[in-house]
Amino acid sequence: MTTTITITGAGGQIGYALLFRIAAGDMLGADEKVRLRLLEIPAGLGAAEGAALELQDGAFSLLEHVEVTDDPAVAFDGADHALLVGARPRGPGMERGDLLAANGGIFGPQGAAIAANAASGVRITVVGNPANTNALIAAASAEGVPTERFAALTRLDENRARAQLAQTLGVPVGIVQRVPIWGNHSATQFPDVSHATVGGEPAADALARIVGDVPSWVDGTFIPRVAKRGAEIIAVRGSSSVASAANAAIEHVRDWVHGTQDWTSAAVVSRGEYGVPEGLVSSFPVEAVDGEWRIVEGLEIGDDARRRIDASVAELIEERDAVRGLGLV
Ligand code: NDP
Repeated sequence: MTTTITITGAGGQIGYALLFRIAAGDMLGADEKVRLRLLEIPAGLGAAEGAALELQDGAFSLLEHVEVTDDPAVAFDGADHALLVGARPRGPGMERGDLLAANGGIFGPQGAAIAANAASGVRITVVGNPANTNALIAAASAEGVPTERFAALTRLDENRARAQLAQTLGVPVGIVQRVPIWGNHSATQFPDVSHATVGGEPAADALARIVGDVPSWVDGTFIPRVAKRGAEIIAVRGSSSVASAANAAIEHVRDWVHGTQDWTSAAVVSRGEYGVPEGLVSSFPVEAVDGEWRIVEGLEIGDDARRRIDASVAELIEERDAVRGLGLV
């Protein structure tokens, strides 16, 4: 069987970091043949076509076909997975309303094109920012596609949080689990260490031995470091994070398809879990079972966590109200 994967903004940096790993089988597995559809705006077609030539030169045995197009109907035709990466970046002096409107002009038509052309089991992962609200817009425009097929990426935030925790505790990152991201993929996100485990044991005691006052370390060091990691990468590297974002997108789709061993994070449509208003695309602790994200329910939420989740959700509500005002949802 061959899986069709559509990548929008495929001529961009994250697209370039994604394509070769997908073709190598990192996303769907070493036995799954893939057909890639690269969607770009006209200005990005050359970069996408160049990437397609390099894909050909990679001689990937799993890669059956690559097509480059600027037509969403062609790009999403028969798509089993859509990775919506291309988005309008915030320009100098651009207000948030302008940014949301510009992205509405991208994600609304893409949602409609997915509904009209994609495979019936299509799964959509939104990477382009503002990712949660872009996913909300796409889902609202994709009539007939169940909203649970849409998710926005918060896996990079979670990976960053797990990596920070592992570094602080001096343990391998692979044994650090249950560090969910709540809310928006923005500076208001809440990386939550209160359920974290290390090698299956609660991380709280180990953390207290190392940092002393855990709440002030969480407040003053951990959360700002995770939330501002993107800016740190830009300051050090001179441009935004790319390979780690692509890696997170690959892990997100891989887990969605193949299932999770433990919790991870994804922004999915709320049905009112944890007091998050129904219909918002918000990040939660999730598991993937039988190809579906399921929110981990029944977790105890402390006062500080509640305040932080509410603050991030308030931002999502503002974004939703803004796009509602623009008639986009
Ligand atoms: P990137 O490939 O670096 O980024 C693409 C999107 O991913 C941006 O919205 C970016 O957000 C977002 N993103 C999410 N998480 C991260 C992260 N951790 N680090 C960095 N970025 C993150 O951008 P490029 O400018 O290189 O490429 C974008 C491409 O999309 C261009 O080729 C453009 O032509 C194309 N495009 C295609 C469209 C389409 O297919 N219809 C529509 C619009 C653009 P942020 O801006 O906040 O960094």
